[in-house]
Amino acid sequence: MTKRKPLRPVVIFLAVISLLLVSYKQPGRGLTDGITQMKITDAFWAPKFETWRKTTLNDVFDKFEGKYNPRESTNLEWQKPGATWNAFKNFDLVAEGKRGIDKHDGPPWYDGLVYETIRGAADFLARYPDEQMEKRIDGYIDRIAAAQASDPDGYINTYTELVEPDHRWGFNGGLQRLQHDVYNAGMLVEAGVHYYKATGKIKLLDVAVKFTNYMYQDMGPSPKKNIVPAHSGPEEAVIKLYWLFKQEPALKTKMSVPVEEDHYYALATFWLENRGHHIGLPLWGTWGNDSAEHWIRSKKYNDPKYGDHRRPSWGDYAQDSIPLLEQKTIEGHAVRATLLATGLATAAIENKDPRYIQTAGNLWNNMVGHRMFVTGGVGAIANDEKFGSDFFLPNDAYLETCAAVGAGFFSQRMNQLMDDGKYMDEFERVLYNNVLTGISEDGDHYTYQNPLIAEHHHRWEWNGCPCCPPMFLKMVSAIPDFIYRYEPGALYVNLFVGNEITLTHNNQKIALKMNTKYPWDGTISLKVSPETATRLSIKIRIPNWALGTENPFGLYQSNLKQQAALKVNGKPVKLVPVKGYVILDRTWQKDDEIQLELPMQPRFINASNEVKVLNGQVAIASGPIVYSLEGNKNPGLDKLKIDANTPMHISFNPGLLDGINEVTGTAINDSNEKVTFHAIPYFGIGNIQPGDKYAIWVKRN
Ligand SMILES: [Zn+2]
Repeated sequence: MTKRKPLRPVVIFLAVISLLLVSYKQPGRGLTDGITQMKITDAFWAPKFETWRKTTLNDVFDKFEGKYNPRESTNLEWQKPGATWNAFKNFDLVAEGKRGIDKHDGPPWYDGLVYETIRGAADFLARYPDEQMEKRIDGYIDRIAAAQASDPDGYINTYTELVEPDHRWGFNGGLQRLQHDVYNAGMLVEAGVHYYKATGKIKLLDVAVKFTNYMYQDMGPSPKKNIVPAHSGPEEAVIKLYWLFKQEPALKTKMSVPVEEDHYYALATFWLENRGHHIGLPLWGTWGNDSAEHWIRSKKYNDPKYGDHRRPSWGDYAQDSIPLLEQKTIEGHAVRATLLATGLATAAIENKDPRYIQTAGNLWNNMVGHRMFVTGGVGAIANDEKFGSDFFLPNDAYLETCAAVGAGFFSQRMNQLMDDGKYMDEFERVLYNNVLTGISEDGDHYTYQNPLIAEHHHRWEWNGCPCCPPMFLKMVSAIPDFIYRYEPGALYVNLFVGNEITLTHNNQKIALKMNTKYPWDGTISLKVSPETATRLSIKIRIPNWALGTENPFGLYQSNLKQQAALKVNGKPVKLVPVKGYVILDRTWQKDDEIQLELPMQPRFINASNEVKVLNGQVAIASGPIVYSLEGNKNPGLDKLKIDANTPMHISFNPGLLDGINEVTGTAINDSNEKVTFHAIPYFGIGNIQPGDKYAIWVKRN
């Protein structure tokens, strides 16, 4: 484990020698232990990180400060134009002691979105010191801490406090599913942990600990209150808090309140295992949302006949119909579902409970094998933003950016839990496609929905529910954490992103340097330079798509013929992956080089026959990137038929969208003429001509 150094001198010193080189942080248990320095040198990601940390972060914070005048008209009260949408005003009003004033900017989960943005900013700050950004966030933290200080219990949820203060946690005539008290608390905990790891500052962490202590005291088995998050996310967050104090026990003495990290773990497992344990009412699906909400607000669940540990059900929508450990399919609101599964997998990493492992595996298998789109997107149905049934994969599906991020986090935790590369295959799929399309090239326009076909699909400046930009930032700022995973004795190479690290292994320092133009080119070089000859097992992930397996359950298949190849110091190594990794266990000498060659020739993908709407259609991919045909380059797009028997060509166009690969091939148009089709990466859609039509799946001739 890396111990944090005193921050300020480190920040100043490193800012002078390099903006990129910083002391490394711990994102979670076992992920990057041993890695002490990291520099991202990647041609694809490094410029994007610059845009996101300079433009996007400031843009999102500006908009949370209300520096945006919403133009869209809406019937929802909290979305009405004219509201200032200043998330920080809410904290200030609470800090002034205001309660029940019936004035709150933004939706009830606005606090949580601010915290999520702080977490994303923190992960960027950990690698790219930025005094101005840090100062900006410190100012926010002062206001958040002041809001907390106005409550004797350390509770903060500005919506509940300003609008319905008698309904804390949704009790007593409230509705937690709307109020998001526990969700917001969890996001606060995450922000506190990440900001501490990035900066060494404890003010926000202290707020988080105080709040978590209060939750632990109030929620749990009888006689405590029966409360689970009606929106998942807090489960993983409090496990991170538990891990932090396990790893750094000395930190406890700096907190203003007692720290009992075992309580935080117990709270997380209570939340997980208590899902589905309620009075069995209301019947959300049968009664409808309005009646069910009315029933809860009328406190009908509070009859003693329902027992002394009673709470209402949050329904299928919130994965609360049946106990979590009995759930076999991934259901309901896709963001909630994927974040719950992430929390479950995270807890399983800690407790290795076979029931947890089995359930997490079942949920992942169902998601990836039956309900995931070729872009990695999940959550087919707009109504309730939820998962559809197996093989329901329509092209105009909903596919929220947040759900894609949740699916990515879930796959990453599964990789950590199961040591299997297939989980990172799906992490890559969703990252390079459904996550990345969530932002404009210039970094200040965002998406909520990411359908596979559209006539007029626009990224927006801001939204009445701006949940997606913060979730996007959380994911992309964490990418460097997911490149490697070090366990004593083994280094997993999970992502192909140009970087330089120093690894401490058996008291030896090993410099590693990855060079690649991935995802535009399949050549990856990893130089391994120990101080003196050192034995280490390096496990290189060989993506399954590169071996002709597009999806581990056959949901998608490709026609890829070319093979992947691996060499060490120029000598070919037999490519026999074990659970997705080729294991290079040897004594490494200075300047040894691993060379991986992944087949980037464009490939056609077709879907399993079970997916009726995709029968007779093809999609195009190269490496992890799924391509899309846009209207501006493909006249008569709706009527085009792709000739999948003619080979495609791929070439790098440095002048297009900061440099991307373009794929061309043969199609037949409406007049039965042979024409050339042009495809660009799906994530780039709408940048050449905003609102342009596009399609991923196209009829096969
Ligand atoms: Zn969202």
